[in-house]
Amino acid sequence: MRLDVVTIFPEYLEPLNVSLVGKARARGQLDVRIHDLREWAHDKHNTVDDTPYGGGPGMVMKPEPWGEALDEILASGEGEPVIVVPTPSGAPFTQQLAVELSAKPWLVFTPARYEGIDRRVIEEYGDRVDVREVSIGDYVLAGGEAPVLVMVEAVARLLPGVLGNAASHQDDSFAPGEMADLLEGPVYTKPPEWRGRGIPEVLLSGHHGKIARWRRDEAFRRTDRNRPDLIERADPAAFGKHDRAM
Ligand code: SAM
Repeated sequence: MRLDVVTIFPEYLEPLNVSLVGKARARGQLDVRIHDLREWAHDKHNTVDDTPYGGGPGMVMKPEPWGEALDEILASGEGEPVIVVPTPSGAPFTQQLAVELSAKPWLVFTPARYEGIDRRVIEEYGDRVDVREVSIGDYVLAGGEAPVLVMVEAVARLLPGVLGNAASHQDDSFAPGEMADLLEGPVYTKPPEWRGRGIPEVLLSGHHGKIARWRRDEAFRRTDRNRPDLIERADPAAFGKHDRAM
């Protein structure tokens, strides 16, 4: 998969050299290209922002540098990328969207600063390629670089061969499948006793059916406690055997 990121803070994306994503890059599974937007700004101060039409506080990112940057990047590869525009006014970033994006060969991220990018840029590229405006949550950050780190990590760990154990993400919270609407339940490792606290007996039973049933019950309990909204919107048939008062 190819990933391009256009930003005025290329150094903010340095964590993409570390850990899982860094290793995927080193193995050639991810081709990550970070671009400095200011390279496409032509005045002596490399200006990328200007005052908003209609007045108001803050600055808006100018369309020309973004247009030149995106034209050059789009012309540099085969086929069409999906352009992902981080914005608090976008559609929520979910595991389902991460799965969808992980199947694409090429993503271009456009993290903004200030009050965001001149709207005409989103319209212009929306007429040419698949453009997604995406929010990582109902809060406002100073820039889109942290959201890009979040999205790239969520997408990269779904790529074949990136996680050591391919099954790891299949049990995750929000993973598609039977437990898609449940959060993952608690997990334990050795030692069997720590500070007087043991682990649930069933996990030592070796009985796969009982362990699966326990994990499902715990996932249900945790979801009910922490994210009751997930249960409200789920298909009741999926929770047929559960009683929310448990
Ligand atoms: N005035 C904008 C608004 O209220 O929608 C906020 C702009 S914010 C200060 C600057 C940039 O940070 C945004 O254009 C976007 O790239 C990024 N950003 C901030 N919060 C975000 C979020 N929750 N999800 C995705 N991107 C976000």
